[in-house]
Amino acid sequence: MKNITVIGAGTMGNGIAHVFAQSGYHVSLVDISQDALDRGLATITKNLDRMIKKEKITEADKNSTLGNINTFTDLSAGVKNADLVVEAATENIDLKLKIFADMDAKAPADAILATNTSSISITKIASVTERPEKVIGMHFMNPVPVMKLVEIIRGYSTSDEVTKQIMETSKNLGKVPVEVNDYPGFVANRILMPMINEAIITLHEGVAGVEEIDTVMKLGMAHPMGPLQLADFIGLDVCLAIMEVLYEGFGNPKYAPCPLLVNMVTAKKLGVKSGEGFYSWGHGTKDLIVADAFKK
Ligand code: NAD
Repeated sequence: MKNITVIGAGTMGNGIAHVFAQSGYHVSLVDISQDALDRGLATITKNLDRMIKKEKITEADKNSTLGNINTFTDLSAGVKNADLVVEAATENIDLKLKIFADMDAKAPADAILATNTSSISITKIASVTERPEKVIGMHFMNPVPVMKLVEIIRGYSTSDEVTKQIMETSKNLGKVPVEVNDYPGFVANRILMPMINEAIITLHEGVAGVEEIDTVMKLGMAHPMGPLQLADFIGLDVCLAIMEVLYEGFGNPKYAPCPLLVNMVTAKKLGVKSGEGFYSWGHGTKDLIVADAFKK
């Protein structure tokens, strides 16, 4: 594999493009928004600069990484030469089905089509293509350049050969792949997201405030950050979308999204990416500042 196409240049897409490009792959980064592509490249550049400062890479590594990335707003041009496509567009099932049907028609017939979906069924996504044996989940963690895990999800029809190739490719990126089966939320979000939702319910019921909940989980459970801060990093819209998939997929009320989460997403309080969630962001300090709505 040499040519990788990444669909979506948002939080995850730019990180995925970064790690492939840094490992020497040729990357075509595709987004419907030129703005998102510009922001994605700016983030990659900023993250590479940070790595130079920490003496993890050299200026030459930065230049070769950036030189390995081309950007496109047109899907056909972006997937034309792909050996592997990793889709990291917005977590919305209708959108992903449309993108996969399009990619199936436009990418080379032998290309593997992977998705970074957090929760949507790989089997369902594969069903809109003529190559379900070549469709697989490649679920990177945020922030992609830092986090070692890639959850590899086999759809119902995913072939052994394709699974093996994707496991190997993940190792080539310096990641640790873990193979799991295709059920709502897979493993990572089946366990993580109900915990985040429960933290939001705990806040909603007034059991404790934002800082108290996060401090209990950080100091009591040795989590590197509290669940509410993590929700802000993931994006509250992404958290809600995943809870809805779990709720619909299992039909169990224990997965019902907290009404506070629903309200915050409706009010466009999405966390870091919108400037406010449980915390207030964009004030330029590293200190955590609880959002006004949750100040006591
Ligand atoms: P995001 O909102 O930051 O970025 C999504 C990008 O997709 C945007 O730039 C948007 O313009 C682009 N897009 C929308 N429609 C498109 C199309 N038709 N073609 C090309 N680009 C299109 O979202 P994100 O957080 O990067 O999430 C992307 C995927 O990764 C989702 O499936 C999400 O569930 C998954 N994921 C997210 C996280 C996380 O922590 N945010 C972690 C793991 C997996």
